[in-house]
Amino acid sequence: PARLVLMGELHAALEEHEAARAREGAGRGADGGPGASQLEMHYQPKIELASERTVGLEALMRWHHPTRGLVGPGTFVPLAEQSGLIHRLTTFALDAAVRQLAQWSADGTAVPVAVNLSAHDVADPEVVDTIEELLARHGVRPDLLEVEITETALVADRSRVVPVLERLGALGVRVAIDDFGTGTTSISQLRDLPVAELKIDRVFVADLGDGEREGSELVVQAMVDLAHSFGLRVVAEGVEDEVTARTLQRLGVDQAQGYLWARPGPAHEVHPPGGAARGD
Ligand code: C2E
Ligand code: CA
Ligand code: CA
Ligand code: CA
Repeated sequence: PARLVLMGELHAALEEHEAARAREGAGRGADGGPGASQLEMHYQPKIELASERTVGLEALMRWHHPTRGLVGPGTFVPLAEQSGLIHRLTTFALDAAVRQLAQWSADGTAVPVAVNLSAHDVADPEVVDTIEELLARHGVRPDLLEVEITETALVADRSRVVPVLERLGALGVRVAIDDFGTGTTSISQLRDLPVAELKIDRVFVADLGDGEREGSELVVQAMVDLAHSFGLRVVAEGVEDEVTARTLQRLGVDQAQGYLWARPGPAHEVHPPGGAARGD
């Protein structure tokens, strides 16, 4: 019952957001500044380990619930998947990310932005039409948009997902495999797919700091070596301390994300780096 209430409220929040967008499209102006919508995308920097520079961003959805406060995607994305709202939620995420990319492109500060797609999205070719249409409408270069799909989504419906990935690849949108290592995919199964990046799941990264350290290093090292031999970029998520960052760099991991560098935050607070401090 609590889940039903939350789903109804999520539906209402989406309706409200879509109505505001439609009024904007009709030339009647936006509903107001940030905060007008309960739904918002936050962004977390992807750091190149060798240079410690921001080389990309991951877009992560946030729901500012009127009474519960901030509700995380771990709670509402699964609900949206069960209730058929996920396609509209994904369109919201893509629309927000592409608009933000258009603005950063105009400012000359754009770096690639990765949007998370759910298993439901990537089994449906319509998501490619949506992406193509949004990029064209806002004049954003396809190589500035990336999508992340989980290893489980790829395996669950491979025959439907592979053509979607191929169309995205043809469009120039890079594909990353998220939460890698938690499922049953072997890297060699990715060889013939237009996949550009592997994101090593946080559990392996967390293990690097534990007693199991040597064993985990071997696992990560094996993933990195094989991924590189297939021309894939390797990104580690959930990096919270300096020692882990240096270990990952030593193991050959290309990029990393984590609280060590930055928590996900509103676009203007996160990028360009140092931008938020300029007014201080
Ligand atoms: P994910 O794609 O694996 O995203 C990484 C999660 O780790 C994010 O949680 C991020 O805030 C968190 N994180 C980043 N750095 C650290 C760190 O150093 N330590 C720890 N402990 N956590 C860190 P978040 O934002 O709560 O998202 C949870 C999941 O919800 C995501 O996992 C993703 O699967 C899903 N999600 C988020 N946004 C979207 C979206 O727009 N669409 C869809 N379909 N799913 C989304
Ligand atoms: Ca992700
Ligand atoms: Ca992940
Ligand atoms: Ca995860």
